[in-house]
Amino acid sequence: MPVTIKSAREIELMRAAGKILGKAHQDLGKELKPGMTTLEIDRLGEEMIRSYGCIPSFKNYQGFPASVCVSVNDEVVHGIPDKKRVIQEGDIVSLDMGVIYKGYHSDAARTHGIGEISKAAANLIRRTRESFFEGIRYACAGCHLHQISAAVNAHADRCGYGVVRDLVGHGIGSHLHEEPEVPNFYKRTRGIRLRPGMTLAVEPMINEGTGDVKWLENNWTVVTADHKLSAHYENTILITKGKPEILSITEDEIAEGIWNVGGMA
Ligand code: MG
Repeated sequence: MPVTIKSAREIELMRAAGKILGKAHQDLGKELKPGMTTLEIDRLGEEMIRSYGCIPSFKNYQGFPASVCVSVNDEVVHGIPDKKRVIQEGDIVSLDMGVIYKGYHSDAARTHGIGEISKAAANLIRRTRESFFEGIRYACAGCHLHQISAAVNAHADRCGYGVVRDLVGHGIGSHLHEEPEVPNFYKRTRGIRLRPGMTLAVEPMINEGTGDVKWLENNWTVVTADHKLSAHYENTILITKGKPEILSITEDEIAEGIWNVGGMA
């Protein structure tokens, strides 16, 4: 499938989807507390998504049994919500959610600390988020896709972290996963030239230790090979002639200065 350029109408629908998803992430993040099960988190997230008139993108996607991927500590992505899995003070919890609004998807992930977390865990979360913003400095028309990848990787390198190579970001639109793949690591090629109207899910998955991962027996959940911590930060973005538009964050997050990457490349 070729990389699609979205029409003005499609972009409007993806803006609406992203706005809802950003709000759902913000609201769900505030609900997290020690003692909750990962299944309770999923139920709450699904309720929020549906209350905004959306369908959860992940539910039953290739057989995934839940609406929210809830990945704890050494789990990188695709943690399966479970009524026996209780989150504890000091854990870090990555929530990955997607929504479908009028046929269009938005996809985003956040990692949250539960109660008081270690300084090392807090740094990993913050720097993973930074690596997304470093990457999207190059998410503008005329740049090449793998410039985003290289910038994410460079930031992780500077911090002494490992970058997950077995999973990548992706194009997004009327399908959850579209072309192109968006790696978080250096590539020898430049990748495609970015054009206005492309929509991408950029999603650094950054590990405290090695970037190597393995799959649990459920064939979904990815964990770090050394069982050190992992963090995830993802947004759906729109390529424009200038700065990219981040479709899946809230006005509050923008006001907090989260979208503060300085000058464009
Ligand atoms: Mg994604």
